[in-house]
Amino acid sequence: MNISLLPKIELHCHLDGVLSPGMARDIQQTAPFPIGPAELQRAYPVDSLDSFFNWWNFIALIKGSFTHFYPILANHLARLKAQNVTYAEIMLPFSCLGNDPAQAIAGLQAFRAWADQQQGETLQVEFLVAVGRNRSAQEMEARLECILALYQAGLIVGFALAGPEQGNPVHPFQRTFAQLHEAGLGIEIHAGEWCGPESVWDALQYGYPDRIGHGVSLFQDPRLVALFGERQLHIEMCPTSNVKTQSVARLEDHPVVKARELGLNFSLNTDDPGTFLCSLEGEYELLATAFGFDARDFARIYQNSWRARFASRRQPRASI
Ligand SMILES: [Zn+2]
Repeated sequence: MNISLLPKIELHCHLDGVLSPGMARDIQQTAPFPIGPAELQRAYPVDSLDSFFNWWNFIALIKGSFTHFYPILANHLARLKAQNVTYAEIMLPFSCLGNDPAQAIAGLQAFRAWADQQQGETLQVEFLVAVGRNRSAQEMEARLECILALYQAGLIVGFALAGPEQGNPVHPFQRTFAQLHEAGLGIEIHAGEWCGPESVWDALQYGYPDRIGHGVSLFQDPRLVALFGERQLHIEMCPTSNVKTQSVARLEDHPVVKARELGLNFSLNTDDPGTFLCSLEGEYELLATAFGFDARDFARIYQNSWRARFASRRQPRASI
C-alpha cells in the first residue's frame, strides 16, 4: 500500500491552525508577512492543553481579517494536493468575517474566488464558519444573521462549534442551533475532546450535530457507542491533535482502533496541522504503523468521509 497515492478527504481543519514555522518561512520569501518563522517557533512544543491554547497567542497578529490568510490558504491547498486530497472542508474563524452580513459576504466572496483559483481540477474545497464555545448565548445569537447570510449566498456549507469545552456546554446555544438546523446548514460540534461523555450527550441533545469533532470520551459510555453505531453518526477523528493536547495520554489509548473494530462511521483529520506539525498523510502513516490500518480501512474512511461531507447542502452561488 502506497499511502501517498491513496485518495483522501479532510473534514476537520481550522484555517487559523494551518500556519507552521516552515510555512511562515515560505510565505515570507514571496511577500511581506507579519509572523516570522523564528518568532512562531517560540510557540513550540505544543504538548499540553496549556501550550495548545498559548499557541494561538502567537498568531494573534493575523486574525481579524482575511488579509494574511490568502497566502496561508494557497500554501495549504498546495500541500493538500500534494497529499492526493480530493475534497477538503476548512473551518474559517468567525473573527475574519465580522458581524455585518454585507461586509462578510463581500470578504468571503473574494476569498472564495481565491480558493477557486488555488484548488485546481483535482481538489474541491468548501468552507464552514467556526465559533468558539466560550461565548455568551447573546454573542452567539448576534452572529446568526451573518452566518445565515453567508450560507444563503452559497459561501459556506456549515457551522462548527469549537474552542474550550470545559464549562462551556451547548445547552445555552440551543435556540441558535435550532435556527441553523432549520436553515439547512451542516452542523459540526467539537465534543468529548476534553470533557467526558456528558458533553457528547449535551451536543446531541441541544445542537443538532451532523458530525461530532473528536468524540474521544464517547467511548467511555456504552450507550453512546451503541447510539453512534445504530445511527452511524459521523465522528471526525484527529489522533495527533488528541495526543498533543492530552485528550488521550498515549496514541495507544486512542479510540480510533475501537471505532474500526465496531464499524463506526469516522474520518481522519489533522485539526490544526500547523499547531501540531502534522499532515493528513502523516495521520494515515501513523494508523498504518501503530495499528495496522490497511487499504481496506482507508477505503472505508474515504467512503464515510465522502458521505459525511456538507457540500451537498451548499446553496447556489452567484458568480462574481
Ligand atoms: Zn478542531
